[in-house]
Amino acid sequence: MSDPVPALTDRHGRVHRDLRISLTDRCSLRCTYCMPAEGVPWLAGSTMLTTAELVRIARVAVGLGITEVRLTGGEPLLRTDVVDVVRQIAALTGPLGPPEVSITTNALRLPALAAPLKDAGLRRVNISIDTLDRERFAALTRRDRLHDTLAGIAAADAAGLHPIKLNAVAMRGVNDDEVVDLVRFAVDRGYEMRFIEQMPLDAGHTWDRTQMVTQAEVLASLRSAFALTEVPGRGSAPAERWLVDGGPQTVGVIASVTAPFCGACDRVRLTADGQLRSCLFSRSETDLRTLLRDGADDETLGAAFRDCLAGKKPGHDIDDPSFLQPDRPMSAIGG
Ligand code: SAM
Ligand code: SF4
Repeated sequence: MSDPVPALTDRHGRVHRDLRISLTDRCSLRCTYCMPAEGVPWLAGSTMLTTAELVRIARVAVGLGITEVRLTGGEPLLRTDVVDVVRQIAALTGPLGPPEVSITTNALRLPALAAPLKDAGLRRVNISIDTLDRERFAALTRRDRLHDTLAGIAAADAAGLHPIKLNAVAMRGVNDDEVVDLVRFAVDRGYEMRFIEQMPLDAGHTWDRTQMVTQAEVLASLRSAFALTEVPGRGSAPAERWLVDGGPQTVGVIASVTAPFCGACDRVRLTADGQLRSCLFSRSETDLRTLLRDGADDETLGAAFRDCLAGKKPGHDIDDPSFLQPDRPMSAIGG
């Protein structure tokens, strides 16, 4: 008997439930670990998916059992149709019901957009904040905008976009002395702080394994200030989590390099120019844009999703000497 819920299953038995959509490769910041100061050669406007094209692909994906859609970029809030995209995707439904829609953002535009996004059906936000120090923020993002990020976090809170998760990439000699302060900031406000191990995905190819701050180092720093108790039941989530001083607040670490979680990965990614990727580190893509613009029906698009996942590798091998960085930078894939 066939499964009543169509599942996007790969050759390694992983069922895919999470679609990450990059709305744009452009950004209002220039984080050193992500983009060079001058930016990157931007995707051509004519190749970017329109609102209708994005929603059509999301509809096919939700029909194939996707239950979570995360909008990212680049900076997703730079897209002028972002509220409309959220509204239309949140209104979709599939065999497992409507998808939960969330956004990963640098928060600069949240003071204006948090409330309309919530009304449109947005459930949650992940906000990037690597430091609480204004000068460091300006050096790290190459823009003096800490104040706007903080205002964006407050706006998300006021709009009820809970639980709020804050992301920081820990960097040696840059912000690794701030991990305790960042956790205190989050815990005091009822947010979850998460530290991400830096990955070789920057456009400038500056990643250096020896400069990367590991999960073990982050935990050692945190244990000097807090009692951490591991939270069991991680499932397919990228972050491992710990209760801070007995909880209820938690801290997470996304140890993509030193403790990869590929075996439980349930994510598939769509770039702003309509290319489907089975992994952040894929070296090949499935061209949904051309299929769409050539008039493909939903069945053909669904088959392209399955083909893409059929080629998904068991892991990313970042730590292997033979690892090759993907051609696209993180900002053009969607983090
Ligand atoms: N602009 C939005 C933001 O910064 O949240 C969304 C896109 S950004 C590419 C998504 C996430 O990827 C952010 O949390 C960012 O810190 C993280 N990121 C970017 N480059 C990274 C890298 N080389 N290694 C690890 N995380 C990275
Ligand atoms: Fe922009 Fe996000 Fe990349 Fe920073 S990490 S440059 S905010 S896309």
